[in-house]
Amino acid sequence: MSSTYQDSPPSQGWNFDNTFLDLPDSLYVRQKPVPVKQPAIAVLNRTLAQALGLNADSLDGPHGADIFAGNRLPQGADPIAQAYAGHQFGHFTMLGDGRAILLGEHVAPDGSRFDIQLKGSGRTPFSRRGDGRAALGPMLREYIISEAMHALDIPTTRSLAVATTGEPVHRETTLAGAILTRVAGSHIRVGTFEYLAAHGNTEDLRALAMYTVHRHYPELAEAENPFRELLGAVMERQVRLVTKWLHVGFIHGVMNTDNVSLCGESIDYGPCAFMDAYNPATVFSSIDRDGRYAYGNQPSITQWNLTRLAETLLPLLHENGDKATELAQDILEKFPGLFRLHWIEGMRTKLGLFTEEEGDAALAQDLLKLMQENDADFTLTLRGLSEKKSDRPFFREADFMGWRTRWEARLSRQAQTFEESCALMRTHNPAVIARNHQVEKALRAATADNDLQPTHRLLAALASPFEDRPEHAAYREPGPVDSGYQTFCGT
Ligand code: AMP
Ligand code: MG
Repeated sequence: MSSTYQDSPPSQGWNFDNTFLDLPDSLYVRQKPVPVKQPAIAVLNRTLAQALGLNADSLDGPHGADIFAGNRLPQGADPIAQAYAGHQFGHFTMLGDGRAILLGEHVAPDGSRFDIQLKGSGRTPFSRRGDGRAALGPMLREYIISEAMHALDIPTTRSLAVATTGEPVHRETTLAGAILTRVAGSHIRVGTFEYLAAHGNTEDLRALAMYTVHRHYPELAEAENPFRELLGAVMERQVRLVTKWLHVGFIHGVMNTDNVSLCGESIDYGPCAFMDAYNPATVFSSIDRDGRYAYGNQPSITQWNLTRLAETLLPLLHENGDKATELAQDILEKFPGLFRLHWIEGMRTKLGLFTEEEGDAALAQDLLKLMQENDADFTLTLRGLSEKKSDRPFFREADFMGWRTRWEARLSRQAQTFEESCALMRTHNPAVIARNHQVEKALRAATADNDLQPTHRLLAALASPFEDRPEHAAYREPGPVDSGYQTFCGT
């Protein structure tokens, strides 16, 4: 630890430009990561490193381990812990980065800007009773699932590395400590706006809103009322996001407003998981006892979260309170229609439909209903539609065969061939998702046996989810039914 906090060698390729520091200082505290005993890289995302213009070779060793564990700062970093608030399971709370440090914004060779954050990097003024640390299992889990989401073409934070710390963390049992390096469009959350709104600080709020516009929605900067446009644009991205989640059977698990990103990325992979058998009531999170964040509730929760964002923006929308509320409502009431539009657009591609017919939504809904009645696997069923030799038991059910006749008639009313429909379906219905049993198996090997090979094999399969590779066949199958699979928050 003798070299703690010295800058890294320039050859690593870091290119920091920390604009968040120009925002009102109530939004952050300067805070360095707390050094750890024995940094070592568990996983490094070389592909992502290269895409970011970083030198993967120079990061893949002790220098990289020091960076990813927080023992050494990358050149140009100016680390902070961010302040934010949030509605957690419906209840408002003051939060903040209690176990994360934003190193700064790295600008990639193509000019795009990314937050580089260390998660599990030690205590901060926002830690309350927490230890500021994270365990290896949950950090690898976030790495695996976020990279799987990216490969599924879903906007998401990415994972650059997981480093182990050589220090224990104490939870119900003693676990190995680890730190995740998270790469995000930004870490501006609905909760960041709620934090300033709770302090009644309209000028700071205006600065944050304008910053968000410039960083994520620059095309709105010159609009007559950029904040009204911002609300609409964030809503559009959130609708897009939640629809994409539904279309791959993803359950975020903890859609608190502090986990809703203004740039429309999936963020904070705690108790999330992919559903096997289709059932809108599916919940995996052990803390979500009422199913608030169940699969099928995710659209309405998104709308609820956007309403919390809209409330914070009211003073910026119009000086007259009633007029401001009206402006916000005009936007928010478009949510259901927008959602239906995105939902059916995605379902059409999943069913191989190139054209639009009025009965398409009913056709899609009826298939889901049949899946639910028959406990059919969501992913395998949809994928099976484009696989000639698929012998899913569900496909032999009389009800399904009735549905299939309707679907085939629908396909015959468009100009494209069945083969063309199959090609469309195969790029929208993944063959491989991050199945719970496979994720658990990989994490078990990593944490119990120090064996990262299963993690690497799983990551390789998840990197090309739409491809049918014989060597990935094992990753396609669901685990034993009724496993009572439960996920836990990564604390
Ligand atoms: P999360 O469940 O990861 O979204 O975190 C919710 C809040 O709890 C955030 O403010 C985190 O910084 C904080 N938190 C979670 N785990 C810890 C921990 N081990 N130590 C300190 N703060 C934590
Ligand atoms: Mg969070």
